Amino acid sequence: MNRAARATIDSSALRANLAAVRRAAPDSRVMAVIKANAYGHGIVPVARALQESDAFGVARMEEAAAIRGAGLDGRIVLLEGVFHAEQLDLAAALEAELVIHSPEQLEMLEQYPGPHRFRTWLKVDTGMNRLGFPPDGARDLSRRLESCTAVADSPRLMTHLARADATADPATQNQIRMFSEATGDLQGSRSIANSAGVLAWPDSHANWVRPGIMLYGVSPFEDRTGPELGLTPVMTLASELIAVKMVAAGQAVGYGGTWIASSPTRIGVAAIGYGDGYTRHLGSGAPVLVAGQMAHLIGRISMDLVTIELKGVEGAKVGDEVLLWGAELPVERLAQAAGTIPYELLCGVTQRVAMRVT
Ligand SMILES: *Cc1c(COP(=O)(O)O)cnc(C)c1O
Repeated sequence: MNRAARATIDSSALRANLAAVRRAAPDSRVMAVIKANAYGHGIVPVARALQESDAFGVARMEEAAAIRGAGLDGRIVLLEGVFHAEQLDLAAALEAELVIHSPEQLEMLEQYPGPHRFRTWLKVDTGMNRLGFPPDGARDLSRRLESCTAVADSPRLMTHLARADATADPATQNQIRMFSEATGDLQGSRSIANSAGVLAWPDSHANWVRPGIMLYGVSPFEDRTGPELGLTPVMTLASELIAVKMVAAGQAVGYGGTWIASSPTRIGVAAIGYGDGYTRHLGSGAPVLVAGQMAHLIGRISMDLVTIELKGVEGAKVGDEVLLWGAELPVERLAQAAGTIPYELLCGVTQRVAMRVT
């Protein structure tokens, strides 16, 4: 295979970031969140590299199936449970644990005719107002689950933080307090923290933490990068120059002619574009590294190509590596330039990009 656009996934960085989670939350078990194809990094290689975690968290049945299909037998939690009763048999076959967040899911379990006994996680809504039961119902619901023949043991108890990345916002402490009041004397382990909770809210660590983004070496906070938090970026997205040329003063580059050379300018064309997940929202001015030297995009991003001003990049030539993000160019910086979050850039890397795991 000879595809220019490539993502390199560093397994040792994944393991180092898992170690960073354990250092930050030393008394908690770790559910490694690897939904959405492990945030675009490839669910199977990431699950392999993170086998030392205590469980995997996924959002879809297909993701659980992919992990089992790779022969991995660790615990898997379906973070949104099943969407339809017909999926329960498959969840049973995959030995997946179920988050129960709605009355409909509770009824599906109560009516489940199969022999399997599911491990469950009761989700309490403490302020996200997305999934979960109101806090005042937690006790009754926990008992109802316990007495259900399809349920193996006391449900674990979880909630999800809505603003943990806002480290001065009192909402997180309120959520933690509400959760603890709602679940007070109940049996079962507790889980609250996402990555921002792990890093900024020790009171949220509880029995299980559920880090996602930090495992990939990326910061959950807008004003800091992963390396600044002691994390190691896992994905390097790179391509190469496939043309180098001079553009005369007054000439426009790319669709719409949005960039015009004010003087004779040497430009490079690299084989990557929004068809690879390099979002068109980046556009002119976005930083790239050409053969290790800082340069920036000019003009619009095309489906397959980007154009780069090579001013200051001495000797750049066809075949040179163009780095879009990675350890030397944090994806957080690109996300800011694109008006989005690094999560979206990472998840957006498409099938066309060749994945290599080191
Ligand atoms: C995605 C997800 C996480 C991980 O969040 P990060 O911000 O990536 O750490 C944790 N818990 C639940 C329920 C999630 O859906």
